[in-house]
Amino acid sequence: MDSEQTVLEKLHKNGITATDIATQFWCERQMELNNLYKPTPTKAMEKGARMHEAWQAKAYVPLSVETRSYPDFLYKIAYENYMTLKRLKEGKEGRELMVYGSVNGYRLSGKIDELKIRDGKTVIVEDKTVKEGMTIDSAHTKPHIVQIMLYRKMLDDIRCRSYSYDNFANVYRLSKAKLSEEFLKGLGEINLKGEYLSLESMYRKMFEEMHAMPELCDDLELRYVDRRSGTVAAELKVRYDRDMLAGDLSYAMQYWRGERESAPVAGQERWKCNSCKFFGKKCMVWWTGG
Ligand code: SF4
Repeated sequence: MDSEQTVLEKLHKNGITATDIATQFWCERQMELNNLYKPTPTKAMEKGARMHEAWQAKAYVPLSVETRSYPDFLYKIAYENYMTLKRLKEGKEGRELMVYGSVNGYRLSGKIDELKIRDGKTVIVEDKTVKEGMTIDSAHTKPHIVQIMLYRKMLDDIRCRSYSYDNFANVYRLSKAKLSEEFLKGLGEINLKGEYLSLESMYRKMFEEMHAMPELCDDLELRYVDRRSGTVAAELKVRYDRDMLAGDLSYAMQYWRGERESAPVAGQERWKCNSCKFFGKKCMVWWTGG
């Protein structure tokens, strides 16, 4: 690696996702290789993605206008987030909320599976698909716990305005982004008018809805769904722990700042390599041949 090259440059990324950070707690080396080589999706990944799409369709307000450019794509996110947050305000569940933030000055993003209101508070739910009969032990749950706690922190940062519209607009250069003519025409055709035709206004609206979101619940929910049957195999309630998350983030960020190489799994967890697509190919750490 070029000594001047940052980790983000090496991985061809503009920012870090919540999934990247979560995966660091499964195998950091695998996360790095995933970003470097973007492997073709496995059958299990495709099945998981289809399940997410089906859940999404149940409680989702997609914008039907076709996007033609990156600004159009950004608009679509803001519009759909805004509609999802409106649903949430009405006491309905909201799914697939894109969330933005920053960690140690790095751009951070993620997609929350589900939000719902219980006892006047916003509850975060994360769905994970599992194989039938799979043991869900702490090695499996740790990355999910980090991920859901990170979502809790990102939403909190937005609610208390330590991450606001101005931060987002500055990082994503909203004032310079222009929606395509075709997209604007499409928005007009579905009767969107006035401030709904501006990317900046749409994000302002989205952030206002996020700031006004009901208080966040400290009890976070992980739901493990059987990949084949679609039934809930297990549920795990996790109490939000700021100190634990701060410790995990501090460790994770050492990698992104280039202070250390990516860590492979430790010896007692080398069983993870058996299901890793890089084992014996791009990663030889625990490979003994064969
Ligand atoms: S082979 Fe093992 S150590 Fe290497 S990336 Fe995969 S899980 Fe990590």
